[in-house]
Amino acid sequence: MVVYCPPPSKDIDLHARLDDALATILDLMTQRAARGHVANYIPPLATVDPTKFGIAVALNDGSLHVAGDADEPFSIQSISKVFSLTLALGLTGDALWQRVGREPSGNAFNSIVQLEHEQGIPRNPFINSGAIVVADILLSGRQPRETIGEILRFVRFLADDETISIDPAVASAERATGFRNEALANYMKSFNNLRNHPGPVLGVYYHHCAITMTCRQLACAGRFLASNGRNPLTGRPIVAPERARRINALMLTCGHYDGSGDFAFTVGLPSKSGVGGGILAIVPGTAAIAVWSPGLNTQGNSLLGIEALEILSRHMGWSVF
Ligand code: GLU
Repeated sequence: MVVYCPPPSKDIDLHARLDDALATILDLMTQRAARGHVANYIPPLATVDPTKFGIAVALNDGSLHVAGDADEPFSIQSISKVFSLTLALGLTGDALWQRVGREPSGNAFNSIVQLEHEQGIPRNPFINSGAIVVADILLSGRQPRETIGEILRFVRFLADDETISIDPAVASAERATGFRNEALANYMKSFNNLRNHPGPVLGVYYHHCAITMTCRQLACAGRFLASNGRNPLTGRPIVAPERARRINALMLTCGHYDGSGDFAFTVGLPSKSGVGGGILAIVPGTAAIAVWSPGLNTQGNSLLGIEALEILSRHMGWSVF
């Protein structure tokens, strides 16, 4: 059940209103008995405490507002696909769209069915098959280790935090259980939509999914998408404004797998979820939000994370619609 906060009063300062909303959300979420189910396909995710809840909001004015377990690292999983896509677009520009589509899939994150109909071209860069093609683009001409290092450096640069790391236990568990991702990669290779051998491509993919971040770090890393492609603190451009807009458009239409339409309906913000229970949401022109609650709904998206964003967006009047 969603319990909404009282509507905002215009005369209360934005920061106070936000702190108030975060405190209310934390209180509500802490009390929730139904928290979804943590991902159980690999032991490092299956053993995460389902009572954890953290949220961080990085406003474009440079302020950061946090509540709950906002400084506890978690596995960002598919949220990393936003960062790998951003890097790959920097390498290839729009040529990337000849190998990956831009349509919502309406299917599970690891579905193989559409690939046969669509000749090995994944529907979008945020389902597993699409992110594997993106990893292939990033790998071309480099060693896997260099590519993984480049992705990690990019994320550290965006968050302005050198302590962000990759959890090797998550990366090797992903590989040990990644039979379906292997099937996707091999299938796309058969259509000639991978330039490299599937093994090293999947190595890159598994490692970026295994990046560990806190809500605070993730909100900071997402700021460029909330401020026209620039770091709002330094004014330094990271991507062109048009590219930031397009990444946001893809997050809105494809960021929650086959729950994307419902998320747009209830929350109305570009965002990307991961099976570690994190969600990165963007309020264009205003803020980047990271929320983490490890329990997932049936579509693999954070159950309480979605509810928290629904309450926050209503309370603050934040929506792209
Ligand atoms: N590493 C995960 C997989 O490929 C990503 C899942 C996700 O967060 O959607 O299965």
